[in-house]
Amino acid sequence: MKNLVVGGAGYVGSVVTRLLVEQGHEVVVLDDCSTGHADSVPAGVELVQDDIGTAGRVLASGDFDAVLHFAAKSLVGESVVKPSMYWRTNVVGTRALLDAITEHGVPRLVFSSTAATYGEPEVVPITEDAPTRPTNTYGATKLAVDMMITNECAATELGAVSLRYFNVAGAAFGAGERHATETHLIPIALDAVLGKRDKLDVFGDDWPTPDGTCVRDYVHVEDLARAHVLALTAAEPGHHLICNLGNGNGFSVKQVIATIEEVTGLPLPHTVGPRRAGDPAQLVASADRAREKLGWVPEHDLARMVADAWEFKQSLGAR
Ligand code: UDP
Repeated sequence: MKNLVVGGAGYVGSVVTRLLVEQGHEVVVLDDCSTGHADSVPAGVELVQDDIGTAGRVLASGDFDAVLHFAAKSLVGESVVKPSMYWRTNVVGTRALLDAITEHGVPRLVFSSTAATYGEPEVVPITEDAPTRPTNTYGATKLAVDMMITNECAATELGAVSLRYFNVAGAAFGAGERHATETHLIPIALDAVLGKRDKLDVFGDDWPTPDGTCVRDYVHVEDLARAHVLALTAAEPGHHLICNLGNGNGFSVKQVIATIEEVTGLPLPHTVGPRRAGDPAQLVASADRAREKLGWVPEHDLARMVADAWEFKQSLGAR
């Protein structure tokens, strides 16, 4: 298959690009490298370093079988203070991409959606039928895109799959997380182990959870990447399938800290501070639909995510 990966220089996009190449797919990456890195795109893959608005020009140049779309602003806190930037990039940008997909008759789309579309859950594990009440601008823009895709599939022959990620972690095929502004627990904690930060701040230990810290569903980026390749074959013309991607197991911040100390063999300096605004107490996925519709089975546990993220962090230091 010939695929256009929009946002293929970012964390998840670059891992998916590498898996597609490994499986013999042809790949072109479109990325403005505003947050991604050109050197995350593997050798031999064409990188068009430009805005998402130019997708039509790229799609016009060849017979593409699919678009995989990862390009988005994705910092929850920033999204709340800069809503215009998030609506323009995530929603207006994707509108232009959808128009180009329809104009050039691309039959398949796989979209990088998020658990943030659900907001504070009433029931865990969260199924795809749960109410969607995002609590921040980032989640709202991703939900808006999911809705646009549903409408587009109903009106055209496009077959689309939205994958709602829970907490992605780890590294694969030599690519991993390297955000200029890092907000995620595992990379921040590993920097504290390495002494690149003085400590990790735990955002509250008075939550209604077994040990008082927030519970999240961590999923390995390699498992996540495999789901995208499965989604390419699951996409049916005129249908929009939405699937959660998580392991179905929750781990608290304290459990993540214990796993990091065990895997690295080093102490993780940390202190408990106040809660972070907008954090739900527990987010755990039901991934039954992804198992059933995509045939997806996640293989890697939290210790493996930490081990792979740790190896990748250390390799960055050596570059
Ligand atoms: N967290 C924390 N300290 C940090 C970053 C995150 O205690 O410096 C907690 C956060 O409150 C949440 C969990 O770790 O319960 C995962 O947060 P992350 O930002 O990685 O992902 P999110 O669940 O917000 O998508």
